[in-house]
Amino acid sequence: MRQAVISGVRQAKLVEVPDPQPKEDWALVKVHASALCTEYKAYWVGHKVPVMGHEGAGEVVAVAQPGPVEVGDRVVILPQYPCGKCSLCMAGDYVYCENCYDFEEFVGTRDGSGTFAHYTLKPAWLLPKIPEDVSYARATMAIDGIGASFGAFQAIDVGALDTVLITGLGPVGLGAVANARFRNARVVGVEPVPWRRDRAKQMGAEVVFDPEDPDLVGKIRELTGGKGVDCAVDCSGKVQAERLCIDSTRRRGRVAFVGESRDQLPIRVSPDLIRKGLTVVGSWLYNMGDFPKVMQVIQESPLIDLLISHEMGMSQIREAFELLASGQAAKVVVDPWK
Ligand SMILES: [Zn+2]
Ligand SMILES: [Zn+2]
Repeated sequence: MRQAVISGVRQAKLVEVPDPQPKEDWALVKVHASALCTEYKAYWVGHKVPVMGHEGAGEVVAVAQPGPVEVGDRVVILPQYPCGKCSLCMAGDYVYCENCYDFEEFVGTRDGSGTFAHYTLKPAWLLPKIPEDVSYARATMAIDGIGASFGAFQAIDVGALDTVLITGLGPVGLGAVANARFRNARVVGVEPVPWRRDRAKQMGAEVVFDPEDPDLVGKIRELTGGKGVDCAVDCSGKVQAERLCIDSTRRRGRVAFVGESRDQLPIRVSPDLIRKGLTVVGSWLYNMGDFPKVMQVIQESPLIDLLISHEMGMSQIREAFELLASGQAAKVVVDPWK
């Protein structure tokens, strides 16, 4: 089979590797669509990643033993290799599993662990079915396009009575706009890249500010009768934006962090949390029990067509990375067979 690899600084290519084979309760999936995520960062600096892609959808082509999927099933390929046995996995919070498989040890090679490839291997229980009327490309939005922020929206219970601040309107943040509008919440966005600000407005954000605006907190307060937003979701992973979420949210409001960061956000427990009665949560994807709801957003939201800004063949993987790195794209989906 063919799979994409990063071969140098701003270099990526396709290589031939042996087709992976399923064993035990794993299945082999022919990948028909895979959405790009943060892989372009490795591409940009030339970190030679041999296997990539964690947002896929495809068709089951082989199973090692009877189980929850059959050959021919159209499925979403959920990320990671959780154990399936621990209490977190049992509760649907598999993304937080602490006993994930060592793929290479279990399979004997790393090939087959990515979705920028013709085929990928996955424990069969992580392959929920795609409704007939949903294309493979749209189904990939069930991972980070719609899914990443969906978990946060569930955690802080965003609804039609809420004004929600969304900071960072890259692919995940634009997915958050789609989730917010699906719930009829009012959206205020913050994003430095003009293309993304425009796309967020097309998707129904009422106002989108530049993070360099010197009086952001004041302007956000002005939009909300002086109180601040009801909820905030950071999708940027930038400390400045994380701070803004806390400062712009009203008393008794809710804040969710989705964007990943290794930088430190200083929090003053009394004024930031106690005196405001703020609820602050971190959220990584969503509980598996919510998969049908995520799929409902994908089926019914008219904004998915704007969330998927580009579909291309995996043979154009370099162009796809360049596009994403330029900021002139929302979700970019590749077809490994083209
Ligand atoms: Zn992702
Ligand atoms: Zn587990």
